[in-house]
Amino acid sequence: SVKDELVQLDKKHFIHPTSNMKQLQEDGPAFIFTEGDGIYLKDVEGRKLMDSLSSLWNVNIGHGRKEIGEVAKEQINKLAFTSTFNNWSHEPVIRLAAEIAEWAPGDLNATFFTSGGSEANDTAFKTVRHYWKVMGQPEKKKIISRKLSYHGVAMGATSATGIEQFHTFTTSIAPDFHYVDSSIEALKELIEKEGADTIAAYISEPVQGSGGVNLPPEGYFQEVRKICDEHDILFIADEVICGFGRLGTNFGIERFGVTPDIITMAKGVTSGYAPLGGMIISERIHQEIIEKTEGNFWHGYTYSGHPTAAAIALKNLEIIKNENLIEHVNVVGKQMLEGFEWIKEQHDNVVDVRGIGLLGAIGIERASESVDPIGPKVVAEALKKGLICRSVVYNGQDTLAFAPPFPITKEQMDEMIIIVNESIKAVK
Ligand code: PLP
Repeated sequence: SVKDELVQLDKKHFIHPTSNMKQLQEDGPAFIFTEGDGIYLKDVEGRKLMDSLSSLWNVNIGHGRKEIGEVAKEQINKLAFTSTFNNWSHEPVIRLAAEIAEWAPGDLNATFFTSGGSEANDTAFKTVRHYWKVMGQPEKKKIISRKLSYHGVAMGATSATGIEQFHTFTTSIAPDFHYVDSSIEALKELIEKEGADTIAAYISEPVQGSGGVNLPPEGYFQEVRKICDEHDILFIADEVICGFGRLGTNFGIERFGVTPDIITMAKGVTSGYAPLGGMIISERIHQEIIEKTEGNFWHGYTYSGHPTAAAIALKNLEIIKNENLIEHVNVVGKQMLEGFEWIKEQHDNVVDVRGIGLLGAIGIERASESVDPIGPKVVAEALKKGLICRSVVYNGQDTLAFAPPFPITKEQMDEMIIIVNESIKAVK
């Protein structure tokens, strides 16, 4: 069959990102997807599956939006690609940068584009170091990130990531990265120990995604903002998952009442219809870099400001606005959390449920890392019932993570909650 052929070719020729190579050699891919429509994916065997993680926290407007297909086709036929290096430009990228300035908080008005989130974070790390250099403080170069953070896998991004496995995978990560627990005391101690005059920036996701959907402690970011201001440390919000409506606000950090100096973003800017990411910087940083140097910006990717990706992003942002999807995120997000609470009431081993907007998690009791996690078994049960969901098990956790596409209806949300509940019951 076609499926058997594809499985064999996959095993032999395709290296999967963040995967277990041995298991793939034995079992082959779990799904070979062929189509997507709304919150559903279809695979080569004709199975229709609810996608409760928007694929990789990114297909925010849902699958199969023909309007995006039309825009992509039109742009490719007109001008699929031209560079934006040096002084070249084109309409889609100009309009997108202006649109993003409308979405972004405070005076965050200028965007540099990348192909994804890892490059966005590497760009931010290089930019903050460049910034301090031009400000006459070249020794300010250390980057502080939080434990259990995920910032991607480019060399800087993987070095900032606070999940151990991404470091131990290889033998050497970049110097000048430091990690803190999610407490204000830990941050203060680290700054004291390292010296503020050696620290360029602090980076955090508004809500940690891949690390297990971890919400910040009460009042945390407001304190962080104060500490950063006090010590001349730039605050980078990694909005790769939270940006463009996931938490029910334009950018996730707005939920916590602070404005960062820099935002990095990707995923939701195109809802995955094209690879695109970027770094949004404040007017102040932008102008200072221009004024204090000859202005040479020695950093750029071939696909910085890809016209087709930019045209797709513009359409995606238009859809989010025109369909009032952020308002809807708040409504169904509340329903999701209430559903999780209802699940918690019924199962002794469900010890913690949490979420903001359409980003949520169910925490299952796990005495220690030597105890088999329940999450993967729940995921397997859910799959039998037509739901794809994600389990996070590293670092002693046993968590189920959810980030459904924004247009999920109330009925579909009820269905998701019921399947999750029944799957937890079946595993017990
Ligand atoms: N930052 C965060 C918060 C992410 O969740 C991710 C990806 O999951 C990244 C950065 C890396 O983005 P990419 O995979 O597009 O390089």
